[in-house]
Amino acid sequence: MRKQIAAANWKMNNTLEEGKKLLNEIIHSDLQVNDNQSVVFAVPFPYLINSNQQLGNKPNMYIAAQNCHNKTAGAYTGEVSVDMLSSINIQYCVIGHSERREYFSESNQLLAEKVDRCLSKSITPIFCCGEPLAIREDEIQNDYVAAQLNDSLFHLDGEAIQKVVIAYEPIWAIGTGKTASAEQAQQMHSHIRSVLANKFGDEVAGNISILYGGSVKGANASEIFSQPDVDGGLVGGASLIATEFVQIIKALK
Ligand code: PGA
Repeated sequence: MRKQIAAANWKMNNTLEEGKKLLNEIIHSDLQVNDNQSVVFAVPFPYLINSNQQLGNKPNMYIAAQNCHNKTAGAYTGEVSVDMLSSINIQYCVIGHSERREYFSESNQLLAEKVDRCLSKSITPIFCCGEPLAIREDEIQNDYVAAQLNDSLFHLDGEAIQKVVIAYEPIWAIGTGKTASAEQAQQMHSHIRSVLANKFGDEVAGNISILYGGSVKGANASEIFSQPDVDGGLVGGASLIATEFVQIIKALK
């Protein structure tokens, strides 16, 4: 069965001390993370080692990187490779967040390479897709998202694709306080699953976790996560507040 996942995306927030305090509050709250669930914290690069140590052996909790480079090694000043992440026992990496696509011009083709790099080191890519507002207004979001999946993931085989987590994040809902309705989320998630099923078969598609992202909060998480094709969330703003993120984790199926 596919995992239900609550993933925190801290983005470029928190000093080391603030991050430690936040993580501490969350992992020492009255949480029960079951074996069908995972909780992931995508923290800034400088905190990866520390955060991993802080988690210790907490079951079903993991630290993620927010990005990696598409090349294995070399003269790429300021960049971080998957070999580096793997060498410090990082098991997840966010790939293709819309902020990286927009501010760092990351293309679907480049992201395909990043996905490959991650999988080559047994790091689970949390692959982000999702449409901007203009595409939604033109009602062509289904084709837009299918093209993102096609270009970045469809070179994989049926075994490899099951090692990818997909996060659907409509750009118009990120950090805007404007959440997709539970129905809108379910519609797109079911579309994504059917696109995956067409390519890889029903069984494979059924094993892939598809997270929703975009203004998920403690107050709306249960309704969104209760949708049949929504397997949890990728959470920005609300993941910076311990009580909010704990509520979101508790909303997982
Ligand atoms: P948000 O961000 O929860 O602040 O909307 C989500 C994301 O960018 O992953």
